[in-house]
Amino acid sequence: MTSLDLALASPEELVAAARDGDVVLRDSGEGLDPLTTAVWLAGRTSGTKIGVSFEASSDAMREKTLDSLETLTGGRVVVDADPAAARALRRDGIDYDGVPVPALEPGDRSFRGRRSTYLRGGSPGLVLQPRTPSEVAAALEFARRHRHLPLGLRSGGHGISGRSTNDGGLVIDVSGMNTIEVLDPSARLVRVGPGATWKQVAVSLDKYDWALGSGDYGGVGVGGLATAGGIGLLSRAHGLTIDHLRAVELVLADGTPVRASATENPDLFWAMRGAGANFGVATAFEFEVDEVREVGWAKLVLVSADLEESLKQYGAVARNAPRDTTVFLVTGPPRQGQSVIQLYGMVDSDDPDVVISRLTPFASIGMLAQQQVVITRYADVMGEAADVGPEGQHGRGEPVARSAFVPVLTDAFARDAARLLRSGQVYYFQLRHMGGAITDVDPGEMAFSYRTPEMSVAAMGGDRQGLDSQFDRLAAHFDGLYLSFDTDLRPERVADAFPPPVLARLRSLKHRYDPTNLFRDNFNITPSTPFTPFATEENS
Ligand SMILES: Cc1cc2nc3c(=O)[nH]c(=O)nc-3n(C[C@H](O)[C@H](O)[C@H](O)COP(=O)(O)OP(=O)(O)OC[C@H]3O[C@@H](n4cnc5c(N)ncnc54)[C@H](O)[C@@H]3O)c2cc1C
Repeated sequence: MTSLDLALASPEELVAAARDGDVVLRDSGEGLDPLTTAVWLAGRTSGTKIGVSFEASSDAMREKTLDSLETLTGGRVVVDADPAAARALRRDGIDYDGVPVPALEPGDRSFRGRRSTYLRGGSPGLVLQPRTPSEVAAALEFARRHRHLPLGLRSGGHGISGRSTNDGGLVIDVSGMNTIEVLDPSARLVRVGPGATWKQVAVSLDKYDWALGSGDYGGVGVGGLATAGGIGLLSRAHGLTIDHLRAVELVLADGTPVRASATENPDLFWAMRGAGANFGVATAFEFEVDEVREVGWAKLVLVSADLEESLKQYGAVARNAPRDTTVFLVTGPPRQGQSVIQLYGMVDSDDPDVVISRLTPFASIGMLAQQQVVITRYADVMGEAADVGPEGQHGRGEPVARSAFVPVLTDAFARDAARLLRSGQVYYFQLRHMGGAITDVDPGEMAFSYRTPEMSVAAMGGDRQGLDSQFDRLAAHFDGLYLSFDTDLRPERVADAFPPPVLARLRSLKHRYDPTNLFRDNFNITPSTPFTPFATEENS
């Protein structure tokens, strides 16, 4: 890489150097403006990486400039801010000199890929990146010293509520803890780090003819999903992801590493399966996975002029489907009276006749417009998700979603759901087919206790008030909700997610394991007895 002093180099010299290889433009205060020069040079060359040392007068201007550079040059201009400019981006109230583990701060180049999540834009003051449980403990000690700031926990960055980022706060990002290993082949026992994605897990298990049902998108991270539930394409055949969990290792709020299983801290193990994010930072999961060979995988597109009728038919067909079959429905607002319905179906069978016979009734709930049905590997289905590249995730704004469980997809529900979609307040509506193996687990076995609904529904809208006003009109059809598909952090939603005795038990365990409520920023379960500090590190 050639270093060029902008006070000395002429435009011709710059182009000649950049044609020979990557260059860094050094701004010494004289000569050409480095940013203008970088874009000009990017236009005159191809492929060359252009590094820039740069200062800007305000945070807002700098951010805008970086975004523009990235867009205009397709990421070819790499800004390596000088230390003074980087320090200027620091946020108030953070002891940057006392950071105990590897971390990214706003002036770091790689920070841009870690500041936001898949769906939500963010601007944290510091992203701590521990690589071991003892580094997680150190990060938590740092977080306890910064109680005044929001605290996000991040694994795969796909949380729909987006609380794995924040504005000006701390994030503990365990994406680097992403190993996947087989512990015991005869018991199909595997150990997975929270930072792995479900796509990576599926690929690792595939060579053994094993699979672990997760969700419908392989880009989602293990940490967030395996602490909440995991309602996916294999759920009716094999149960929720957390039904396969045999042990979890985590670091508690006070920094203590613990292991929870049926025999070690069983009450914590109960809580971690459904409400995990309130109890600690999960650092490893042990799952007993399933034997899964090839599966039938279908993507059908149907058009319906009568959405209510199509939803009714979907409900009836889904109710009668054998448990090897899971079919999710996605639709949006009808246009000119026509609804486009997408069905995503998985049949746990490699027999084409079985697959076709299972899917045919679903294909008749509307007019079939497109179909793709294949016999393939579960890993290939998860592999359809795009990889998150080195530039990270770039969600923007605030996602707005609501979730609910539907005990029975009644005709009245179909009518009201169709009205919801016609309201224009929902741009994405999904019904997830439940039942089957999900119902095999006793509701008392873990914190995730809504075991018998026929469906889980998720709706995304443009604004909170508009979505709530329409979604709440369906309340009579609902019982419970899945937190992973909601973005409303108010206590009402937490109360919806857990039946009262379950919530009471969770609050009492929260008092035991996180009495100061350090983990409070994503669907907070408040400790049953409020914490009254006498002399703690926060107030002493
Ligand atoms: C495109 C897409 C498809 C999805 N499909 C499905 C699906 O089919 N089935 C399903 O069940 N869900 C699905 N989800 C929801 C998903 O399971 C949750 O959003 C999950 O929390 C994402 O996990 P993550 O690690 O990627 O997210 P992150 O954003 O990293 O984390 C989300 C939240 O999980 C908690 N958390 C994260 N890491 C840890 C940890 N190590 N220890 C303790 N708590 C932690 C925190 O509260 C955090 O805010 C989907 C989400 C998206 C965006």
